[in-house]
Amino acid sequence: MKQAKFDVVVIGSGVGGTTSAALLCKAGYRTLVVEKLPFPGGRCATLDYHGFKLNTGLNTVTDECHGALCREVGAPFEMRVTDDQWVYRIKGRDYPQPKSGKGVLKTMIGHAASSQAEADRLMRAIKTCLAWAPPSYSMSLDEWLRQYTDNPAILGMFQNYLAAAGAIRNSELPAGEYFRMMNQIDASGRIWGYLPGGGGQLTGALVDAIKRMGGEVWTSSPAVRIAVKGEAAAGAVVRKQGEDIEIAAQAVVCNAGVARTVALAGRDLFPSGYLKDVAAVKGAPQTIIYFTHDRPLIEADSVICLTEARRVFMYSTNTNACPERAPRGKHLSGAAAYLESSLPPFDLKREVEMVLADLRDSIPGFDKYARILTIRVNRGEWGLMKTWPGHTMPVKTPIPGLYTVGDDCGPLGWWCSPAAVQSGRQAVEDIVRRYRPA
Ligand SMILES: Cc1cc2nc3c(=O)[nH]c(=O)nc-3n(C[C@H](O)[C@H](O)[C@H](O)COP(=O)(O)OP(=O)(O)OC[C@H]3O[C@@H](n4cnc5c(N)ncnc54)[C@H](O)[C@@H]3O)c2cc1C
Repeated sequence: MKQAKFDVVVIGSGVGGTTSAALLCKAGYRTLVVEKLPFPGGRCATLDYHGFKLNTGLNTVTDECHGALCREVGAPFEMRVTDDQWVYRIKGRDYPQPKSGKGVLKTMIGHAASSQAEADRLMRAIKTCLAWAPPSYSMSLDEWLRQYTDNPAILGMFQNYLAAAGAIRNSELPAGEYFRMMNQIDASGRIWGYLPGGGGQLTGALVDAIKRMGGEVWTSSPAVRIAVKGEAAAGAVVRKQGEDIEIAAQAVVCNAGVARTVALAGRDLFPSGYLKDVAAVKGAPQTIIYFTHDRPLIEADSVICLTEARRVFMYSTNTNACPERAPRGKHLSGAAAYLESSLPPFDLKREVEMVLADLRDSIPGFDKYARILTIRVNRGEWGLMKTWPGHTMPVKTPIPGLYTVGDDCGPLGWWCSPAAVQSGRQAVEDIVRRYRPA
């Protein structure tokens, strides 16, 4: 078999993989990234569809998380921010969410509450959980909220935010994880913006930086095995242009999901407790619909958040901030929706019908003027997250030298791509402590 040698091999070029590789190259490690698909980025890629730039996943980024990473590794970063971040539609009225971090929740709960006493009661409980200690992970956010209110507008507002950030339902999220996320939100960023070229601009810029710093990125090159010698990771076997290549490396960083990492290394090498945890990891599903129109259909510049719809929790016109994403004169809009339950079996036909019904109800002229480009129910490893928030795995596997990165391996309280970035940072910090570049 053909052989090659690198300091570190990274399997998968999603956010976690490209973050790890860029930081490793910067630290002087000879790094190879292998990606099974013909393009890099995973759920942070942008594909051309009849002249429209459609994201495989990620739509929005923050300066604190993604911008800081790009600056650190010398990758360009341009983020556009709309005047209003989010506009919440509560009981038929639109309320822009204030941009400033402080008091946002209080203001929005104030709009949704049916009395000042109700708002005060809930805010007091929230403050205690944030300033003192988060509630238990053994109760759901829904159970926690219902101790203080059963107001559908408030429950819907929390559901809306949770769906946007973690895809699952209030009843599926451990209450403690919600407050942990709220407490670290300044670190991952509060102000979200759009990349003019779509999500792929981020991973594309990281790939360019990796190559500029001497790393290599092979697309259409799946890892078919993780090599373990003397109980430690020793590299990977990669299939490139039909030929298997044995890559020797001091450490392996796998971004392909924890279950796939186990399969690539061999199940019998892992202790049963770890396998049990891996078996509990389940993707957070989400429906995404892209549509185009020739005339403006959505007045607001920003994202409209529906708090009382059947499925759709937000929609926006992407071309308002980034006209580059559609052919001249066309608008590109997208809507996101949660599913009735985040656990299979899914009734995909019914889920799509519910999404379309919501769009017809909330966007005047939708049937007449909108042309649907794609509808996808993203699930499993293509879900919003590869795991439900609060159910992440550690970056270090039981096999020395084998790390897993991605949004299924972020620290508790970190969700979506910031979780993937953070997992990459953690893996690299540990590699730098333990291994020297050859
Ligand atoms: C519709 C949607 C909208 C989203 N919107 C946002 C948003 O606005 N903001 C945000 O922060 N996050 C958002 N997310 C979440 C975000 O996209 C993810 O959190 C992030 O991209 C996760 O990256 P990851 O590191 O887990 O890698 P992944 O995206 O899971 O990539 C893993 C890569 O590994 C590759 N791979 C798998 N097996 C192999 C193998 N054997 N060999 C080589 N390569 C392999 C895959 O092909 C893939 O490219 C969204 C997700 C979706 C689906």
